Amino acid sequence: MSEDAVLEKIKRYAEKYREATGTCFSPMQQVTDAVLLGLAHNMRELGRPLCPCNYYENKQEEIKHRRWLCPCDEMQMYKYCHCLLYVDSEGLPITEHLPEGHEGLQTYGLRPDPAPDKGRALRDRSNADLMDWYK
Ligand code: SF4
Repeated sequence: MSEDAVLEKIKRYAEKYREATGTCFSPMQQVTDAVLLGLAHNMRELGRPLCPCNYYENKQEEIKHRRWLCPCDEMQMYKYCHCLLYVDSEGLPITEHLPEGHEGLQTYGLRPDPAPDKGRALRDRSNADLMDWYK
């Protein structure tokens, strides 16, 4: 599949997921474009939409776990997107569901979920001890 076709596929998927979760894309178009391009790049390179906003020692090893395949576990548990792809209407990440001590809360403060009835397919896992989970 060509580079453009992969990018279009990623864009279509992201738009559907954005709508399903009641979130917005960043009002800064260049932010959204950069994340989508990064996802498309990883999709072409690895065959999986690995989150482009982390450093991985070994990408091939990382994709064996699903936690950073977009939408990542953090998004599905807490509706928190640290790439700023899925955000609120002001372009900031939703932090309302994050557990105490998470860096997102410390960085952005409490940002309410504009659509709490949508998304968070893994919300049942959000009671797990995050401090262990995201090490
Ligand atoms: S932080 Fe999660 S939801 Fe946001 S772009 Fe990265 S993988 Fe996707």
